[in-house]
Amino acid sequence: MFTPFAYIQPGSVEDVVTALGDKNAFIHAGGTDLLGCLRDDVFSADKLVSLSGLKDISGVSETSDGGLVIGALTTITDVAEHPLIQRKYAGLAQAAADVASPQLRNQGTLGGNLCQKPRCWYYRGDFDCLRKGGYKCFAVNGENEYHCIMGGANCFIVHPSDPAPALVALDAEVAIVGPGGRRRLPVSELHMPPEKDPTRETVLQDAEVITAIHLPPAAAGRYSSYRKIRTRRSWDFAVAGCALAFDMEGDQVRDCRVVLAAAAPVPWRSREAEEVLRGNTLNDGNIRAAARAAVADARPMSNNAYKIPLFEGLLREEFGKIVSA
Ligand SMILES: Cc1cc2nc3c(=O)[nH]c(=O)nc-3n(C[C@H](O)[C@H](O)[C@H](O)COP(=O)(O)OP(=O)(O)OC[C@H]3O[C@@H](n4cnc5c(N)ncnc54)[C@H](O)[C@@H]3O)c2cc1C
Repeated sequence: MFTPFAYIQPGSVEDVVTALGDKNAFIHAGGTDLLGCLRDDVFSADKLVSLSGLKDISGVSETSDGGLVIGALTTITDVAEHPLIQRKYAGLAQAAADVASPQLRNQGTLGGNLCQKPRCWYYRGDFDCLRKGGYKCFAVNGENEYHCIMGGANCFIVHPSDPAPALVALDAEVAIVGPGGRRRLPVSELHMPPEKDPTRETVLQDAEVITAIHLPPAAAGRYSSYRKIRTRRSWDFAVAGCALAFDMEGDQVRDCRVVLAAAAPVPWRSREAEEVLRGNTLNDGNIRAAARAAVADARPMSNNAYKIPLFEGLLREEFGKIVSA
């Protein structure tokens, strides 16, 4: 059952921002996460501000410097199936194709995917947890097999998005419009670490809207990929995943990004693995050392230590694919 709320559909982004100034107002994009949260009483809304009246924030276009702009309202399906994204930013297309089910990919948007709420069963359930403004994280002494092994601090969720790690690996930025005007922010800085504020998923300020995602030009010969491991073959969230972006010169790694999915409350860039590989040959010894470095600082909980060998093996396999690509 929904608690009643007002619903409006402004025709301009400025009007969206103004409407979001009202108390307890939420953006409604595809609604695939938001409406589930409202129905299940995870939180309540007084007003939903639909983005569907904005005609200019969906679709994919190339920029004059060879980069790409993806409107925030672009569906996950359109991201997964776009030929330019598949060719130049393969890791993002793969991550989008791995999201949920075809129906959810047809309805869910890229902007909404970046801002979705976590899937923690304590947060979604009837628990007064820290993320809902309560007093503790119930996963600490509870059922924590799908929780984080890095970056937990006070709340131990994992970030649920598949596209977000891919966008971090590709150095993407979000374009934001809000009461203070327009700004751009790297996707790597979009998500809120729980030690700063466990009640918010992003650093977006009140009434700010993501209007687009900008991808810089991909270096010639860039290798990018996304690999997701889930507990079953049909749709499910990741228990482990990794997004890679590698610029190679022969078998030497000129530059690289290694971003872990479902490891931490935010997409988790493994600078340790990157450091082992950057400037070095992608040989078996370095691959093993980089995969080990990625999990060296992991702090598993009582039921999720299995994620450490899982991530290590996953990374070894994925680095190995670059050699044979
Ligand atoms: C059964 C199920 C399985 C799923 N599996 C996966 C999965 O495997 N991988 C994965 O990555 N995701 C998964 N998801 C999440 C799904 O991808 C998201 O629900 C979807 O992408 C959200 O997009 P939306 O447009 O529907 O957002 P909405 O539900 O409309 O909004 C989600 C949140 O983002 C905010 N928001 C939306 N757009 C913007 C914007 N432009 N600027 C600022 N804030 C905004 C809303 O206020 C809301 O808080 C799953 C969801 C479900 C229900």
